[in-house]
Amino acid sequence: MSATAENTFDIVILGGGSGGYACALRAAELGLSVALVEKGKLGGTCLHMGCIPTKALLHAAEVADTAREGEQFGVRTTFESVDMSRVNAYKDGVVGRLYKGLQGLVKSKSIEYVEGEGRLVAKNVVEVAGRQLVGKNVVLATGSYAKTLPGLDIGGRIMTSNEALFLDYVPARVVVLGGGVIGVEFASVFKSFGSEVTIIEALPRLVAAEDEAISKQLERSFRKRKINFKTNVKFAGATQTGDVVQVSLESGETIEADLLLVSVGRGPVTAGLGYEEAGVTVDRGFVLTNERLQTNVEGIYAVGDIVPGLQLAHRGFAQGIFVAEQVAGLNPPVIDEMGIPRVTYCDPEIASIGYTEVQAKEKFGQIEVYDYSLGGNGKSQILATQGFVKLVRQKDGPVVGVHMIGARMGEQVGEAQLIYNWEALPSDVAQLIHAHPTQNEALGEAHLALAGKPLHAHA
Ligand SMILES: Cc1cc2nc3c(=O)[nH]c(=O)nc-3n(C[C@H](O)[C@H](O)[C@H](O)COP(=O)(O)OP(=O)(O)OC[C@H]3O[C@@H](n4cnc5c(N)ncnc54)[C@H](O)[C@@H]3O)c2cc1C
Repeated sequence: MSATAENTFDIVILGGGSGGYACALRAAELGLSVALVEKGKLGGTCLHMGCIPTKALLHAAEVADTAREGEQFGVRTTFESVDMSRVNAYKDGVVGRLYKGLQGLVKSKSIEYVEGEGRLVAKNVVEVAGRQLVGKNVVLATGSYAKTLPGLDIGGRIMTSNEALFLDYVPARVVVLGGGVIGVEFASVFKSFGSEVTIIEALPRLVAAEDEAISKQLERSFRKRKINFKTNVKFAGATQTGDVVQVSLESGETIEADLLLVSVGRGPVTAGLGYEEAGVTVDRGFVLTNERLQTNVEGIYAVGDIVPGLQLAHRGFAQGIFVAEQVAGLNPPVIDEMGIPRVTYCDPEIASIGYTEVQAKEKFGQIEVYDYSLGGNGKSQILATQGFVKLVRQKDGPVVGVHMIGARMGEQVGEAQLIYNWEALPSDVAQLIHAHPTQNEALGEAHLALAGKPLHAHA
């Protein structure tokens, strides 16, 4: 393969989402020459169809609930309605500003930004619209797409999160197929906007990847919010007639709705991109790597949602940075997948890190667990929220899991991740002083209790 200097780079990155652009920015910082290929919008799923727009909707949902709930705090407010065109303008404004900022950031570095659909045509060559970009290293970062079930076609009133982000009306009745992170976040938004919501989940519990206690508390809270859910039920089919979707379950039950949101997971975008032809091992569409994110083909790396594991933007950022540093010869420390914080932004919020109780038992044998109820926390009482902080530690050892649910718990995950990643003992954390009254204090109280000196807790 002959290559001109202007088409040869230290790193060629295919996909400009969280994983790809983080890699490009870090590589440029390190003085490497970089080409970043993107067929859609720089920023990818997270910025345009994922994290940011959904969290804007969730914030609007919180504002709606605040208006509804003013009375209980002695403030006379009434909830009138949700104006979706204004909600969308607010959400699109947030995305637009971040998009502009990100474009400026990439432009300000010496990154060759190549617009168009790329394909791996040889182990070190990405082709875009006839141009061949030769990389001493190639990073695959093509992300993921919203899956559906066999025979369930997306269209009309059957949609995935992609379409649900741009609704110009509030549906009266919504069925959410899938009670994972995306499903419960949308269920939470729709309920706050005024829809009647039913979640259908084939597994025995909502947010099944979380500790069981979290699922139980979420289900309790959703019941209280009158969000309907059915677990252990299988979807059988859906038909649309006019403006109505009939959703049928294997149990024989049917549910009528104005909208069916399909949130059954995300699959890797890898088909037809030349990966396998270049010799890259792919398993059910996912690109397999070692812990240094190297594929089986020398010089080809993969980052983000196409790599099996947590599909989270900050994991993509971390992996992108890791690969840039690896290529630059900095020998970065391997990323501990369990040390990646996880937040589900429904109401109530869920935040966790490390091992669930069941996983910890399996991995470490002897463990200790402590549940600190938010009932004893001043700020939680002020906010009128319920939930808990659950800690899992190795017997006489460090904290290996933190599981939290309740208002504003997402913001507490920063400290939880320090605790997990620095392998803190409960007594280490008990030494730290947590401001009173904050939701963060609940984390401190839980550690005080686990260290054997509970304050606002019954042993
Ligand atoms: C509704 C929803 C909510 C979410 N909320 C959160 C959240 O709150 N927090 C969180 O951490 N994560 C969240 N996520 C997950 C997060 O968006 C992903 O984990 C993240 O975007 C993955 O980054 P990535 O770089 O692997 O892929 P992507 O962001 O999908 O980027 C891949 C990019 O590659 C481009 N591409 C693909 N093929 C080609 C090609 N052949 N040529 C050129 N370009 C190509 C695509 O256009 C895309 O821009 C959410 C996802 C969804 C769908």
